[in-house]
Amino acid sequence: MNKLTPSAPRALVVDDDLVVRIALVDYLEEAGFEVEEAENGAQCLAAFEAQRPDILLLDVSLPDADGLELCEQIRARTTGAHLPIVMITGRDDLASVERAYRAGATDFIIKPLNFNLLIHRLQFVMRAQQTAEQLRQSQSNLAHAQRIARLGAWEYNFNSGAVTGSDEVGQVLAGQRGWLPATPEDFLARVCAEDRERVREALSTGVRSGEAFDIDFRVANGSDDDVHAHLDVEYLRDGAGHITRMRGSLQDVTEHRATQARIHELAFYDAVTGLPNRTYFRERLSASLAIAERRNRRLALLFVDLDQFKRINDSWGHHVGDELLCQVAGRLGEALRRSDVVCRFDAQEKTTLARLGGDEFVILLNDIERPENAGATAQRVLDQFKQPFMLDGNEVFVSGSIGIAVYPDDATDEHTLLKHGDLAMYQVKQEGRNGYSFFTADMNTRAMERLNMEASLRRAVEREEFRLFYQPKIAAASGEVIGAEALIRWQHPDLGLIGPQQFIPIAEDCGVIVAIGTWVIHEACRQLAAWSGDLPADFQMSVNLSAAQFAQTELVEVVDEALATAGVAPAQLQLELTETMLMGDVRRALQLLHSLRDRGVALAIDDFGTGYSSLNYLKRLPITCLKIDRSFVRDVNNDPRDAAIVRSTVALAHNLGLSVVAEGIETEQQRDALISFGGDELQGYLYSPPLPPPAFIEWLNNYRGARAPLRRVAG
Ligand code: C2E
Ligand code: MG
Ligand code: MG
Repeated sequence: MNKLTPSAPRALVVDDDLVVRIALVDYLEEAGFEVEEAENGAQCLAAFEAQRPDILLLDVSLPDADGLELCEQIRARTTGAHLPIVMITGRDDLASVERAYRAGATDFIIKPLNFNLLIHRLQFVMRAQQTAEQLRQSQSNLAHAQRIARLGAWEYNFNSGAVTGSDEVGQVLAGQRGWLPATPEDFLARVCAEDRERVREALSTGVRSGEAFDIDFRVANGSDDDVHAHLDVEYLRDGAGHITRMRGSLQDVTEHRATQARIHELAFYDAVTGLPNRTYFRERLSASLAIAERRNRRLALLFVDLDQFKRINDSWGHHVGDELLCQVAGRLGEALRRSDVVCRFDAQEKTTLARLGGDEFVILLNDIERPENAGATAQRVLDQFKQPFMLDGNEVFVSGSIGIAVYPDDATDEHTLLKHGDLAMYQVKQEGRNGYSFFTADMNTRAMERLNMEASLRRAVEREEFRLFYQPKIAAASGEVIGAEALIRWQHPDLGLIGPQQFIPIAEDCGVIVAIGTWVIHEACRQLAAWSGDLPADFQMSVNLSAAQFAQTELVEVVDEALATAGVAPAQLQLELTETMLMGDVRRALQLLHSLRDRGVALAIDDFGTGYSSLNYLKRLPITCLKIDRSFVRDVNNDPRDAAIVRSTVALAHNLGLSVVAEGIETEQQRDALISFGGDELQGYLYSPPLPPPAFIEWLNNYRGARAPLRRVAG
């Protein structure tokens, strides 16, 4: 007999009759029970608490207690509420059976006991108990789930008019668990007045058709906060096919709705300004275009871009930038509210204002009569920028550039319309900002040209269409040629020779500049090495860098490789940078310049005087040379201010230990002025324009020849 298995059922036997008790205990143990025994009421209660039996066999009459009262007491305890209690009565006391059930007994057995039947009976009682327990558990789980889901189940019987339902139904409809409407009318009274007729209609259609349906409505809860409910209804028929009952579920979906609304907001609205975002705008636009096409109407897109946003965002931080965007959104909205010209009475949603991202806003004007209407709105928008914005306690003036594209005049599809609006805006920026411009066809042509240019620029690198021209640099003191500047040209197969001003900015925009720049460094070093036998050992080759190249991480490696491949000493290479390149990430710029300088590469600031940097800033940079911009040299003989600038720049540069190159020397007077101010090196058409390699050598020979020590070099 396996008494100690954890799963052995525990039985408590309570009887004062020793013989009965021993027989019961023996028999139960034989059947696999783990048995405790008690002979009176007090022992019974103690054993019940200690053993926690799975079944209790209780004699009706005990010496110190009434077995039925004991039964009641145990039922009253939470631990005994669902315990199977089997009463043991005598054959002569059948009256107590009735009382036993009232006292909460589960079953009874009669003395003298029929042991063969007994075990089956007990097992049956226990199984019934288990099933009841499982049912109770799943009902409680269901109720719990329904409470969490705020979901109630209900049923209505058309014949009897009876309404049944779970607690949650009352919670949803009346804020009171367990409450149930007495009639369908009673239910409708809980639907808020605005939705009531709709729900009534749905219910009566449902009962006529017998088809299941579901419907959402708001609950009449006497407060301002809407409670949204979702009702599911299905109909049940009897054997004859008549509808006899309807049943379904009712759920509080208020939170669900709020979440959905939030998801919608996140997906379609911009978090900073609360305006519709790009996604929403695109949807709107395509819907508007469809309507405009059907009704043969015009619509306009206004692209609004802030002119100084990046500066404000970079220097004052994002929170100020965000604040500005919000204020701009407010003013744009204001401009649209005031626009009466453009709004025609029948256009639904006449305008949409959206933020496309960054500092780009877009206005969609539906149903305009003439394109000029869009111009009027654009002007009203610009007027909104006349007042300063208050940012962080400061008055800040910000202007906007607006590009306008009109359907169907400028484009008929969404994509092209957006592109044309953007092009028109870009045009305003090019022309000095703070204005508006309609899209014109030649903007397209120019944009196309630019695209073509980009494509052929990319090809030009592979096809080796670039050339370097060289312009000599002369030492002011000796008149000797001491170096040259390499200047790029593009030998275009159709367009001929193209100067750098025409393609470098485009190459910078589209990223090809890095590849081009790498080629320039290699080619300049290669050329220098090729000429080495004919040039002084300290002859210096200058190469211009672009901002993108400077920002590139591999610049130092590129320089190392070019020098190594060509076998040129680092001191023979000079890199020309501009002031603006050095303005951004100062720490990084310093690091980069130092690693170049540590190698011995010379560093010059090109076009000095046209940027914003101060000499105070420059003195922290490991540079070796300043190139005074051509614009100061040009008027050095006529404009005393330019002369003063040149003179003091030279003086200050010398104080910082820098040499000074004057570019753009075209006349002898300019040369003489620069020499008298102390300029170290001279460069300009007076000596030579930039020349292709053979012409450069030829010029060099001639120049030297004209200056005596006649040492000719091969071309
Ligand atoms: P920059 O570096 O200031 O070059 C001087 C420019 O002035 C050159 O124009 C040169 O031809 C011109 N110049 C020289 N002497 C005189 C003169 O006496 N009078 C006048 N009016 N002009 C003179 P270029 O070759 O058209 O180059 C223009 C700019 O393009 C350069 O200005 C430089 O910023 C850029 N650039 C040229 N080559 C490269 C290159 O390989 N890479 C990069 N990133 N930029 C380059
Ligand atoms: Mg230069
Ligand atoms: Mg220059």
